[in-house]
Amino acid sequence: MPKSQFVDFKSVKAAITMEQVLQHYGLLDKFKPGADSLNGPCPIHKGSNPTQFRISLSKNIWNCFSECKHGGNVLDFIAEMEKCSIHAAALKAIEWFNLNPEAMAASADKTEAGESKPPAPKSATRPASSPKPAPTSASESNVPNAPLKFRLDKLERQHPYLTEQRGLKPETIMDFGIGFCSKGMMTDRIAIPIHNAKGEVVAYAGRFVGEPPEGTPKYKLPPGFRKSQELFNIDRAIKEPADLPLVIVEGFFDAMKLYQHGCRKVVAIMGATLSTAQEELIRQHTNRHSHIIVMLDENEAGKAGREDIACRLSKFCFVRVNQFSQPDMEPEHLTVEEVQQLMEGVL
Ligand SMILES: [Zn+2]
Repeated sequence: MPKSQFVDFKSVKAAITMEQVLQHYGLLDKFKPGADSLNGPCPIHKGSNPTQFRISLSKNIWNCFSECKHGGNVLDFIAEMEKCSIHAAALKAIEWFNLNPEAMAASADKTEAGESKPPAPKSATRPASSPKPAPTSASESNVPNAPLKFRLDKLERQHPYLTEQRGLKPETIMDFGIGFCSKGMMTDRIAIPIHNAKGEVVAYAGRFVGEPPEGTPKYKLPPGFRKSQELFNIDRAIKEPADLPLVIVEGFFDAMKLYQHGCRKVVAIMGATLSTAQEELIRQHTNRHSHIIVMLDENEAGKAGREDIACRLSKFCFVRVNQFSQPDMEPEHLTVEEVQQLMEGVL
């Protein structure tokens, strides 16, 4: 990236949180969370007093009450840590968190007044009707997502959105570790941990509770997180018996609901397209005797996605494409009996 490149500081600032920057430096576990804060020793002057450096999560700013005697925003922090200019700090942030400056410049006006949201991947176009996260871009980097060094553990598990609106049982909620989040970057969203195949948490997805207002995304993913590298629930699915079919669905809630209905060997591609990395992940955990059921939503995106997926996966295992008779049907809305019938069809 040339030094002279125009950088929209405001968008970069809005796209990353202090929490993520601490995580980048491997410092997050030195900090203790408060109601709306993170408190710890100052990483800039390398102090040791655990209350001298305070971060306001909602304002996304920091302050050192000790030697530095000042504070600032997330770019000021990187500039202090790297002993560089704000411009250089912004360029570093773009690189570290895989931000897309062009997309950010285009959406800067929209995000200014609202919440900070990650910029869309370069080729992210999706039908307005699709409720799922944007499909992955073929040009996305193949760098694996690093495991998170923190856990969101103060989540409200019995939130009515989960139990009543989504019909999830307490056991399912606990198994997936999801819950309503009341602070940090996932404030007022349902936090859904995404694990890699080794079972390490690599990100939290945040689902807005109910219908989001215009301009607010239904799902929020951490900036820099590469969804295309992961399959939701892969860590649990690969522990299921080899002779069971692997079911591929689009969304988190499709996977959780099928799991609740006893179909536990299920993964979600978090959209309606399968990335090359996801295809490779499936290939690693299947063999030529394996069965796969592709069960996407019964809409245009789902129909297009499932044809492509079936075509690619049938090169190395048995693939069955599920078709619902009802338009707009989603696996999440299947009853336990319907799930059993569908599974008996292949076993
Ligand atoms: Zn300090």
